[in-house]
Amino acid sequence: MASVKVEQLRKAFRNVEAVKGIGFAVEDGEFFCLLGPPGAGKTTILRIIAGLEKPDQGEVYLGGERVNDVPPMERDVAMIFEEPALYPHMTAYDNLAHPLRLRKLSKTEIDRKVREVAEVLHITHLLERRPDAFSGGERRRVAIGRALVRRPRVLLLDQPLTDLDAWLRQEMTGELKRLQRETGQTMIYATHDFEEAVTMADRIMVINEGTVEQLGTPDEIYDRPRSAFVASFVGSPSMNLIPCQAEFQDGGLVLSCAAFRLPLTKRVGADLTSRELLLGIRPEHVNIVEGAGEEGIAATVDIVQPLGDEQIVDLSLKDGTVIKIIVPLEIELAPADELMVDFDQDRLSLFDARSEKRIEW
Ligand code: ADP
Ligand code: MG
Repeated sequence: MASVKVEQLRKAFRNVEAVKGIGFAVEDGEFFCLLGPPGAGKTTILRIIAGLEKPDQGEVYLGGERVNDVPPMERDVAMIFEEPALYPHMTAYDNLAHPLRLRKLSKTEIDRKVREVAEVLHITHLLERRPDAFSGGERRRVAIGRALVRRPRVLLLDQPLTDLDAWLRQEMTGELKRLQRETGQTMIYATHDFEEAVTMADRIMVINEGTVEQLGTPDEIYDRPRSAFVASFVGSPSMNLIPCQAEFQDGGLVLSCAAFRLPLTKRVGADLTSRELLLGIRPEHVNIVEGAGEEGIAATVDIVQPLGDEQIVDLSLKDGTVIKIIVPLEIELAPADELMVDFDQDRLSLFDARSEKRIEW
């Protein structure tokens, strides 16, 4: 197992700049996620680490050793793709044993390692069967087993669960996390699905158009997005972003939006009055105000979507702005209902509307 570090990575394909100067360090034994929309540059970064692609610029280190000039076979990195290929004519056992036989390990040692990995992955019962009889989840497990069995220094996973059904994807994310914890295997996992990333990762690097938007723990990324892009990409439904300006009033600061004015309860350090802002609030941090005479923001219910024991509700504000909120199912709501909401002020995010960067306040 090993740490991974890349510095100032750049890669262009003809006129497409896929990776524009990205650097990050993954600790030994860490579960690290690359999260970004299709085309963000995730696969390119993984392929450069694996040695399958040459960067135009930048350094790649594995376990502290610079490997730019080390061929893929000698990097001791394993990569699993979206559609993992297994040898169809071999049993699962032979599929797992294959990388070890190539390394000329003894028969007993191969047997021990294959059975060990099979046990961790719960595929012992599949060992004598061939891939054509496997379900999607079983194929995935065997492919992961084959990559793990030789204990590569780093395991790279490129959207390995994307085409699986939602329930299976959920089960597999749980298993991958457990597997990673039990083996201490350094993993870099690329996905466009924030839920996968948030469930599994120790740290997440959000990338977009070949640049880093934010690197942090799942909580940091979710609670304190560094940019409007991260705010809307991470979370479902995504964070509400409402254009506003800040004004002084009675010694305090008030956010003035088209549909409402929101006096800030917290003292604000930054000068916010001179620029256009985006107020960010997650759907679960909007509350319905109970009782007559309470202050709040007037809203009308548009759409109600039950989701487990909660519901996602689209609300129209006075000026036609639509926000999404998540509230318990017990609250009875129907289209055209009128109500008042307020925002959990500890959970507000503010962004500069022009640069779309987070403003600390
Ligand atoms: P992701 O994996 O995040 O979807 P990729 O790394 O595959 O992103 O691609 C990043 C960008 O580079 C995309 O615009 C893609 O079209 C381009 N790209 C990737 N590989 C090639 C290639 N071999 N030839 C040309 N363009 C490529
Ligand atoms: Mg990709």
